Amino acid sequence: MNKQNLLSFNQNALYDFFVGLGEKPYRTKQIIQWIYKAYEFDFDKMLNFSKPLREELSRVACVELPKVIKQSFALDGVIKWVLALSEDNHIEMVYIPEKDRGTLCISSQVGCALACTFCSTGMQGFNKNLTTAEIIAQVLIANQYLNPKAKRISNVVFMGMGEPLLNEHAVYNACDLLLDDLAFGLSRRKVTISTSGVVPAMLRMSERTPVSLAVSLHAPDNHLRDELMPINQKYSIEELLGACKVYLHAGTQERHILFEYVMLKGVNDSTEHANKLAKLLKDISAKINLIPFNPFEKTQYQTSSAQTIEKFQNILYQQGIRTMTRRTRGEDIDGACGQLAGKVLDKTKRAHARRH
Ligand code: SAH
Ligand code: SF4
Repeated sequence: MNKQNLLSFNQNALYDFFVGLGEKPYRTKQIIQWIYKAYEFDFDKMLNFSKPLREELSRVACVELPKVIKQSFALDGVIKWVLALSEDNHIEMVYIPEKDRGTLCISSQVGCALACTFCSTGMQGFNKNLTTAEIIAQVLIANQYLNPKAKRISNVVFMGMGEPLLNEHAVYNACDLLLDDLAFGLSRRKVTISTSGVVPAMLRMSERTPVSLAVSLHAPDNHLRDELMPINQKYSIEELLGACKVYLHAGTQERHILFEYVMLKGVNDSTEHANKLAKLLKDISAKINLIPFNPFEKTQYQTSSAQTIEKFQNILYQQGIRTMTRRTRGEDIDGACGQLAGKVLDKTKRAHARRH
């Protein structure tokens, strides 16, 4: 019999699981405390459970985390972990410490099928969606490592490997646990799903989870975006901005969107691009994050110069759009955005096609 990994269950699913075993509902709270507060994964040591319950749990369930196979430490304090899901599939996650916060950047898929031309993960091809357990285990592993060193995770962003909105079920369940006061207890503003623009999923996300949304835009018109991000050929910028507006108006609390824009030298970084971008976003509650392109092996792109980025930022700023430039972190260990590549057993054969 396949044992159920309890890390895949949000609070509701754990409740159903214990009630299904004929147990009292308060067991839900107890198991969450053992796993997420005490980092205890061995049922035999959960001594407020009766012996028969501990035995039953060992028979039908488990708490299993991927193995850490490598930890790298960058000079600027960034830490990168490589986790093995199986021999052929590795994922990466990165911790980025700042003065007043600590952000954990996690993965949602092994590789990514969307093949954005400037992204190292996208160039690797795709193998599989992570389970809720494999997603939430990343936060547990990082917490276990960081907590004793008095470092904390204040923000979690789905900006590692993969497109989170092509793995909705697992990602939403993981978000439930990130927001759950009994588990990680993060506020909805401190958990961010970043998407390349999977429009139908964005509409569902607006209803299903209150977490923050970041949208990878990267081009101010369909012609250029089609070229950089093949998903734009399916969902155009107009449809994408329509879904953004639905997200902004869903729920009862105020919402904002962060637009990400990677700065590619001579490709999307001219004065004209900046003006078009400002026009595009003028009636949407947006903040723009300019990301200097992080190069990787065999890429055709280069990053825009600091002056070009500053000029681009000023144009947006002058037209009333809040704009920040993201500082590149963890570069010396390939821990920056879009450099996460892991080892992907590619089912799409993309990496193979590229080599020939
Ligand atoms: N698939 C999701 C989330 C993962 S990528 C998405 O595309 O939004 C996280 C961010 O890194 C995205 O904004 C992505 O466009 C950006 N990115 C990808 N490759 C990059 C690179 N080489 N340099 C800088 N940013 C990159
Ligand atoms: Fe996938 Fe995001 Fe990379 Fe595009 S930028 S290939 S959607 S991970």
